[in-house]
Amino acid sequence: MQMDDAQWRTLLGERGLRVTRGRLDVLRALAASETPVSHAEVVERLSHAGLDRVTVYRNLVSLAEAGIVVATHVDRVARFALRGGARPHHEAHPHLVCTDCHTVRCLPAESVTLSGLAATGEVAAVELRGRCAECRAAAR
Ligand SMILES: [Zn+2]
Ligand SMILES: [Zn+2]
Repeated sequence: MQMDDAQWRTLLGERGLRVTRGRLDVLRALAASETPVSHAEVVERLSHAGLDRVTVYRNLVSLAEAGIVVATHVDRVARFALRGGARPHHEAHPHLVCTDCHTVRCLPAESVTLSGLAATGEVAAVELRGRCAECRAAAR
């Protein structure tokens, strides 16, 4: 999602949130990611900005409460994405969780088809575990 700081400021104001450098940093970090990111990953990506874990967490929670950010659980960890981003509905498609590097990748919804008993219930999340392409290549 291409948003500049002026647009982020407007959005935060519309949702009744104070504009802080930390919130803008968190929004930029989420906008730069194609996949939903965990709290720990946001902290890591913002380590250069001098934001501590607690500040990042509070910002993620307030942005989620304001509806700007959507939280989805993948690999039992809450992961955050922009609601207006390219792929906000991470509960609607499967994810590949790499057992080596722990990165999460979004897969097309049609990459997993449920049938039989699985198709009769209401499935909230599909997670595949294994090695991502990079880790597979590195292991060869
Ligand atoms: Zn990997
Ligand atoms: Zn996803």
